[in-house]
Amino acid sequence: MSAETLKMASVFLVGAGPGDPDLLTVKALRLLREADVVLHDSLVSEKILELVSNGARLVDVGKRCGKTSAAQADICRLLVREAQSGQRVVRLKGGDPMVFGRATEEMDALREAGIAFEVVPGITAATAAASALQISLTRREVARSVHFLTGHGAAGGLPEHDWAALARGGGTLAVYMGSQTLPGLAAHLIEAGMAPDMPAVAVESAALPGQRVLRGTLGSLPRLLATAAPSGPVLLLIGQALEDEAVAQDALASAVAG
Ligand code: SAH
Repeated sequence: MSAETLKMASVFLVGAGPGDPDLLTVKALRLLREADVVLHDSLVSEKILELVSNGARLVDVGKRCGKTSAAQADICRLLVREAQSGQRVVRLKGGDPMVFGRATEEMDALREAGIAFEVVPGITAATAAASALQISLTRREVARSVHFLTGHGAAGGLPEHDWAALARGGGTLAVYMGSQTLPGLAAHLIEAGMAPDMPAVAVESAALPGQRVLRGTLGSLPRLLATAAPSGPVLLLIGQALEDEAVAQDALASAVAG
């Protein structure tokens, strides 16, 4: 995109990161301070919304997983309308806009309306969770790839994945929107040949004050998560890269339970 186009952008699709304001980019912070109107997801934390300039309008277009496409169409229309009325618009999304953020629909709507926009990346939940755990998603010889998956399909429930390829791939799986469907996901992966004792970790509210970590294995995590009944967003990480602590903690948990 040319510098000229960037100057003309009146809409910014901005990643808010996982929730801690310190994890915003400098550019995101500047745009929040300069915006006339901020259309934000409900996942965006209060602390970040407090950084929006006084006088700017805040519109919660509240989308959590499971919302219908009609709601998405309304957001697209609102985005176009605000931009056409000459407002500097920030569309603020949790994490990174380009990862499970429905950015395609919004960019298409803006392109169709001939509105110039720019996308500003944010820290996505998978890397925020890895930092919280102090565990690298990739590891020499152990985890050569990372797969971002959704646990929640467009039709609701667990979507189709190539379970055999995921089980065989040997990479780290980062599952978004997967807390409800973890039992099915774990069963599919085990059936496809992944070891039930594969390390698996759930991170609730990564980089937020209520952060909680549940360590287990592919076999044990569904039960641990159901018992913990998380109320915040949950990111699941599965794979050998999670090894060290996960296995030790699970052994400890079974010893205590048994
Ligand atoms: N665009 C976002 C993802 C949106 S989908 C991103 O890049 O992070 C929403 C899912 O993201 C949630 O169901 C959860 O799986 C994950 N998520 C978002 N914020 C999170 C956080 N602070 N802690 C853990 N998981 C989070």
